[in-house]
Amino acid sequence: MFRTHTCGELNLQSAGQEVTLSGWVQRIRDKGGLIWIDLRDRYGITQLMMEEGTSNPAVIAKAKELGREFVIQAKGLVIERISKNLKIPTGEIEIKVVEIKILNKSILPPFTIEDNTDGGEELRMKYRYLDLRRTPVRRNLELRHRMAIETRNYLDKQNFIEIETPVLIKSTPEGARDFVVPSRMNPGEFYALPQSPQTFKQLLMVAGYDRYYQIVKCFRDEDLRADRQPEFTQIDCEMAFVEQNDILETFEGLTKYLFSTIKGMNFPEPFPRMTYADAMKFYGSDKPDIRFGMKFVELTEIAKGKNFKVFDDAEIVVGICVPACADYTRKQLDELTEFVKKPQIGSKGLVYVKFNFDGTIKSSVDKFFDEADLKNWASKFDAKPGDLMLILSGNETPTLKALNEVRLEMGKRLGLRNPDTFAPLWVVDFPLLEWDEETKRFYAMHHPFTSPKPEDIGQLETNPGLVRANAYDLVINGVEIGGGSIRIFNKELQKRMFTILGFTDELAQAQFGFLMNAFEFGAPPHGGIAFGFDRFCALFGGSDSIRDYIAFPKNNSGRDVMIDSPATISDEQLKELNLKITFEPPKK
Ligand code: ASP
Repeated sequence: MFRTHTCGELNLQSAGQEVTLSGWVQRIRDKGGLIWIDLRDRYGITQLMMEEGTSNPAVIAKAKELGREFVIQAKGLVIERISKNLKIPTGEIEIKVVEIKILNKSILPPFTIEDNTDGGEELRMKYRYLDLRRTPVRRNLELRHRMAIETRNYLDKQNFIEIETPVLIKSTPEGARDFVVPSRMNPGEFYALPQSPQTFKQLLMVAGYDRYYQIVKCFRDEDLRADRQPEFTQIDCEMAFVEQNDILETFEGLTKYLFSTIKGMNFPEPFPRMTYADAMKFYGSDKPDIRFGMKFVELTEIAKGKNFKVFDDAEIVVGICVPACADYTRKQLDELTEFVKKPQIGSKGLVYVKFNFDGTIKSSVDKFFDEADLKNWASKFDAKPGDLMLILSGNETPTLKALNEVRLEMGKRLGLRNPDTFAPLWVVDFPLLEWDEETKRFYAMHHPFTSPKPEDIGQLETNPGLVRANAYDLVINGVEIGGGSIRIFNKELQKRMFTILGFTDELAQAQFGFLMNAFEFGAPPHGGIAFGFDRFCALFGGSDSIRDYIAFPKNNSGRDVMIDSPATISDEQLKELNLKITFEPPKK
């Protein structure tokens, strides 16, 4: 028997017991006469102690051989500690060791394996198995596990069944590039890895499994950011015989259930719902962070015609009112101006109006606007003395997007984006299509299987840009947690959709014939949603980085630096696959 207890479970009640523990040596303190060892396993840390004079000399000699991360077994007596550490559950006791066995040695680890480590990101990724020994990382994976279990519990109770769908498939276009896998048995042909199980879950609806879910890996060959990975996990769901509201209620239920079981937080009210059009108008984003206000106020009408060319030439003049910041200094305002001019934000400049605490009003455009004008703006903003109004102008879409960044920045500066506060929101009525200037064609905003709103179907060919979809996103704290739609379930409409997306009939048939054919065999009305599981875990854990919640993540270049992948393959493998590499690495 390697252990009678784990390193996380002994306390004062166990005092006097003979125990055996196994684990890793986190730290050794040799105070001459007294030796303490922090012994770690998955469950916690227990302090071992030996004392010159009262402990067996052989045990002390053994303890002196130990180094960091040695795996040992220790036998001893649980005793009350003199100086207690009340921060950890085992902090009131220690083990007076009578026997130590080295189970395995360790070479010196490349970074300290403690809550606060000296290891940089790259090094920790290279030795991820050591990083995973650290408590904060382990807690993240435990949280992920709990969330998966509770998700399954909830969905199971709601009659969902988990069904696995294949990983080697044909492309499912969802806006990203596919990863592909060459087929040895079918020379010159490739599988694609699923960007999501979209078409399969719809086929399961045709097959009559009216409530499907799967916690499933998805693959997208996209440029990476902190909240993106080339392979990621979804809670993927589909339901038949439902309308949009049924889906929103079911998954609002899942979200509330997870908040309550995992975080002990309750949301008695229904989640607010906002149309995409309002989200863009009032927040300049399809995923507004509604933990705080500062909704956009448009001034276009009242700000034009005063010879201020910047406003007169603009499509839109729009701003936010920042509470209690009228005392911002010149320097702070200059900083904000620099902020909006950053290339990724792309504004030409920022206009400010200070509604001073003493009731006077002062702006950066006093030359063009008198006090009455500015007071008029202030009343539009519903500004109070002490507030600072920040105003941008220009073409509509980029200006709204830039103001979104300013709003988020001000929210951050004012401490209004507290990771312990959660503000869920459904964004509904997304446009069906999105125009792409570069390729001069429409793309599906969600995916090609999304149903237009029935009342907008008449405009599909005449006014495609205005057609709204039965599509929805769940947004929490400005993060898109999930998205889905009611689907097209009729072959003719699906064909029209492919035509609008620029597919010829032949191409649509070749790529999606299987789905359109299935629609001819009694497809039920259906719809679904998928939650980004990694992101959901990160949000619950209070982090921006999904990598922290994935056991073996990839870095920003899509590499796994631990196993050194991707990698080249042997000539033999290439030959077997009938592949020839034409890429030549750039000369150094
Ligand atoms: N397959 C979609 C996605 O991955 C989700 C859905 O429409 O259910 O975004």
